[in-house]
Amino acid sequence: MALLAWPQRPVMTVTYRDGIRIELSDGTRIVCDADSPDGEVNVLSHAHGDHWPEGETTAVCSPLTADLATVRRDTPLHRTTDERVELCPAGHVAGSRSALVTDPDGTRYLYTGDVCTRPRFYLDGFDPPSADVLIVEATYGEPDYVFPDHAALAEEIRTWLAETTEPVILFGYALGRAQKLQLLARAADRDRVLASDAVRRVNDAIETHRDVTFDAEPFGSDTDLTTGDALVLPMTSGRIDWVDRLAGETGAIKAGFSGWAVQAAFKFRGDYDVTFPLSDHCDFEELLSLVEAVDPDRIYTQHGSAASLATHLTAAGYDATALRQHQTSLGDF
Ligand SMILES: [Zn+2]
Repeated sequence: MALLAWPQRPVMTVTYRDGIRIELSDGTRIVCDADSPDGEVNVLSHAHGDHWPEGETTAVCSPLTADLATVRRDTPLHRTTDERVELCPAGHVAGSRSALVTDPDGTRYLYTGDVCTRPRFYLDGFDPPSADVLIVEATYGEPDYVFPDHAALAEEIRTWLAETTEPVILFGYALGRAQKLQLLARAADRDRVLASDAVRRVNDAIETHRDVTFDAEPFGSDTDLTTGDALVLPMTSGRIDWVDRLAGETGAIKAGFSGWAVQAAFKFRGDYDVTFPLSDHCDFEELLSLVEAVDPDRIYTQHGSAASLATHLTAAGYDATALRQHQTSLGDF
């Protein structure tokens, strides 16, 4: 009796443990955005705090990401390059890059990191290259997350800033949203734009690399907040007591800016008076368009709504799998 051939399980080359690991055919391990990177080549897509290790380290990244990471942690992050890794502007925040990794066997892997295809302010949108294997972020990988047209939203925010007579406290991530909020407050002719030290350190690094100035004045515990002022604070300070006291004493309006603002819960969770869905990520429809442009044979989704996005992509005819962290083998599926 002839033995039945057992279907060959595909070689699993992409895994999600501490960061995304891509095993190349020659045994080289490329590790992207890990807390404790242990690859022969380590990639850092951008300088948001959840993506790189404590302590001095070396990574393939943009010059601006190396500077931002260095000033944000006050610890050197050294930049290197590797001929197998091509960095492409990811449109997420200043300095952010996607990584196009070419295996010696010719397979092209595209790791997006956090990504946004909409041009915004001083950022170009991500222009997706073609690839065989796509590892895509899925922060907003559910159909409910569709953002308004960027130009219309920016104008709505600017108008609100111009027409609000009270002082305003604007909350956004120190790298990314905070810079756009400063530009909008300037465009709205607020009397003063003030920012915390964490935001101003990021401003300085971006101004060194890009043709943009933010001109925010320092804000400290002895600074009075008066009518006409716009104070930009990191998102993380939204529910801190002194911020609440400051808002109470000065009558300031607290505004939150995030893609999560498309849902009402964001406003209540952050205790904001007003919110706007200003985001540095792709929305659901933009993620689908990104996938279509890359036209991959295989897709891995990660972060946020990874399972939902994989389900929608599978229904659309793609070979898509959601990556779960610390999963050691995709053969488990
Ligand atoms: Zn990010």
